[in-house]
Amino acid sequence: MTVDAIKVAVIGSGPSGYSAAIYAARAMLQPVLFAGFQSGIAGGQLMTTTDVENYPGFSDGVSGPELMDRMQKQAEKFGTKVLLEDVISLDTSKRPFLIETQERTLYAHFIIIATGASAKRLDIKGTRDGELWQKGVSACAVCDGAMPLFRNKDLFVIGGGDSAMEEALFLTRYASRVFIVHRRDVFRASKIMADRVLHHPKITVLWDSVVEEVLGDSVVRSIRIKNVKTDTAEIHPAAGVFFAVGHEPNTAFLNGAVQLDELGYVRLIPGTNKTSVPGIFAAGDVHDRKFRQAITAAAAGCMASMEVEREWSAMEMGG
Ligand code: NDP
Repeated sequence: MTVDAIKVAVIGSGPSGYSAAIYAARAMLQPVLFAGFQSGIAGGQLMTTTDVENYPGFSDGVSGPELMDRMQKQAEKFGTKVLLEDVISLDTSKRPFLIETQERTLYAHFIIIATGASAKRLDIKGTRDGELWQKGVSACAVCDGAMPLFRNKDLFVIGGGDSAMEEALFLTRYASRVFIVHRRDVFRASKIMADRVLHHPKITVLWDSVVEEVLGDSVVRSIRIKNVKTDTAEIHPAAGVFFAVGHEPNTAFLNGAVQLDELGYVRLIPGTNKTSVPGIFAAGDVHDRKFRQAITAAAAGCMASMEVEREWSAMEMGG
C-alpha cells in the first residue's frame, strides 16, 4: 500500500525549527512545521526572553518574540505550512513515518526534531506564574539580565553547575552584588568556571543554602534563604532571582522513537544531525546541551535541512 506523505515535517518552532523550514522550503521540499500548542513551545524559549542582543544582524537588538515572528514569516514566505499543533506521537518503525497530533495523522518521508529544551524551575513560593515569575524571577540571566530593574541591585542565582557560574558571571555586569545560592558545599561546575566565580569580587556564594520564598509586590523585593546545616533563615533584599538548575530537553513525546542520551537529549551520529533512525534528524537544544544559543540552534536547523535535502534528492534519483 502506498500512502500520501509530505516530504519533510519539522517539529518545533524555535530558531532551529524555523531555520530548518526556511532551508527546506527554499529547496522546494514544502515542509510542514508543527509549532506546538499546549506544550507552550510555540516560538520556543525566545518567546519568554526580552531583548536579544547577540543575534547577528540586529545591531539595535530585537525582542525574542519579534525575532521568532520574523523567522516564522520568512519560513511561510517560502512555502512552509505552519500548524499550531502538538505532535503527540511518532511511529518510526517504518517509512514514511506516521506523525500524530491531536487534530490529525499524517505521513512524512523525513522528520526534523527541533523541540528544544526548557530551563527547569523550582517550585518555590513567590516564583510561580502569576506571582513574581518574569517580574524579577527568571530562568535565563543571559536573556533577561540587562533589564533596568536589575541594574545596581543585589541579584541571586540558584544552582551550582556551569550554568549557574555562567549566569552569575554575566550578571556581575549589571548587579551591585551577585549571590549564588547552592544547596551543597561544593560546586558541580567545572573547576575553571568555579574558580572564576570564587575569585570574582562581586560574587558571594551562600553554601548549603536553599531559597524558601521570594517576596515582592509588582517586582521582586527580597528573598528568604535557609542554611540547611544550621537550619536558620535570613531575608535579604533582592531585585532578581535566576534559576540555573539545569535544562530539560523536550523529548518526552518521542517515547522511544529515537535514541536519547542519559539526560534525555536526542543522540546524534557524531558529525551529523542524524538520529539513530535513518530519515529522522534533530536540531537545536533538543540535542545540544552545551551551547544552547539561538544562533547555534539556527545553524543546526540549517544543517539538518541540508542533510534532508541531499537524502531526498538521492531518494528521488532512486539512490
Ligand atoms: P547541571 O545539571 O550541571 O547543574 C544543575 C545545578 O542545579 C546543580 O548544581 C544542582 O545541584 C542544582 N539543582 C538541581 N536541582 C536543584 C534543586 N531542586 N534545588 C537546588 N539546586 C538544584 O546543569 P547546568 O545547566 O549547569 O549544566 C548542564 C550541562 O551544560 C553541563 O554538562 C554543563 O557543563 C554544560 N554547560 C556548559 C557551559 C560551558 O561550558 N560554558 C555553560 C553551561 C552549561 P547539585 O550540584 O547539588 O546537584
